[in-house]
Amino acid sequence: MRRVSVFGATGSVGESTLDLIARRDDCRVVALTGGRNVVRLAELARAHRAELAVTAHDDCLGDLRAALAGSGVAVAAGAQALVEAAARPADWVMSAIVGAAGLAPGFAALAQGGVLALANKESLVCAGALLKAEAARHGATILPVDSEHSAVFQALTGEDIAAVETLTLTASGGGLRDWPLDRLARATPADAGQHPNWDMGQRITIDSASMFNKAMEVIEAREFFGIAPERIEVLIHPQSLVHALVGFSDGAVMAHLGAPDMRHAIGYALNWPARAPLPVARLDLVQAGRLDFHAPDPARYPALGLAWDVMAAGGCAGAVFNAAKEAALDAFIAGRIGFADMARLVERTLEVTAQETDITRDPASLAEVLETDTDARRRATALADGLARSGAA
Ligand code: NAD
Ligand code: MG
Repeated sequence: MRRVSVFGATGSVGESTLDLIARRDDCRVVALTGGRNVVRLAELARAHRAELAVTAHDDCLGDLRAALAGSGVAVAAGAQALVEAAARPADWVMSAIVGAAGLAPGFAALAQGGVLALANKESLVCAGALLKAEAARHGATILPVDSEHSAVFQALTGEDIAAVETLTLTASGGGLRDWPLDRLARATPADAGQHPNWDMGQRITIDSASMFNKAMEVIEAREFFGIAPERIEVLIHPQSLVHALVGFSDGAVMAHLGAPDMRHAIGYALNWPARAPLPVARLDLVQAGRLDFHAPDPARYPALGLAWDVMAAGGCAGAVFNAAKEAALDAFIAGRIGFADMARLVERTLEVTAQETDITRDPASLAEVLETDTDARRRATALADGLARSGAA
């Protein structure tokens, strides 16, 4: 029996992961974690006979305990309990908490030397070098679950990374792809929270509309595959059927295609290094009819270019970028700043942080990454407050 734990079990990736686990008879569920949706967390924990269910919030513990009374599932709450849950012996751990909150549990899981299936892209953006060093130290394997990175990983199987000339990540362009630019600036969280192809959590869906998500993925690709920034490119591909393309030094290009369903990338990580049948729709190219590609317009997607600034700076810039992006997204969702303000706010936070600190220094520990995160969040929130005040004036 494989022991599996799912962090962020109540989210979009977490639910898809458990959907696949439920179809297998070789997995035993150790820990499931969630946020405030303790009713769903308890349902999942009962259905999967988990050993332990953890809510991230101390004030939700009573409700979780009540929902799991008599079930035999142990309960816990809080950030430290999440890290302790990650230290419970497991062979395969899904990291699918959204945001920098996913960092510490992912690190803790690596110490077991098993497989960390990494959906939480923030881990690589904020602490890529540390995460890879920690995996190497414990003989653990990190498998990418982001669809584009799973696609690249699959295209690279059996290949020499030194022979890679280009790495192309595709992007749908998000829910506001066809909006005129003047209207785009006035988009609401509800407008940006619609995705044409993928069914995902609210935060990543809005990040897709702004292309902050793709900026994160460019940095994630650089960190995971060790590929030079100038070799990475992004193409808009509205059909979301080609997930990534890898170009080699002999001119060959390997593309990964499939229906836009996260259960492919999750299932690949679950079956790795083998392949096994998955319940995803099969690609029908005749029905698709055409595959379109075009270069993203920098005026529409100012967030995307910031990825190359972050990669050029290196060091702590990824952690600053992510924290500022999370704070900007919070302010946008709360209706305090506009859609177009998010990229400006993140760029400004990077500038201010670079003026006041050495942003290029490599963080020595996870604690230093989290300090950088707190500091950048504070700066970005102060900038958002300023914008909100000037907007109201
Ligand atoms: P989601 O919002 O649907 O779910 C997030 C999960 O994290 C939930 O279980 C929630 O309870 C939990 N959570 C939220 N805040 C938390 C906190 N502070 N502490 C602990 N737990 C917390 O998100 P999602 O769309 O499933 O995305 C999860 C991660 O996977 C993100 O990093 C995202 O970028 C990445 N990802 C998602 C998709 C997708 O298709 N949804 C694709 C690629 C990558
Ligand atoms: Mg992706």
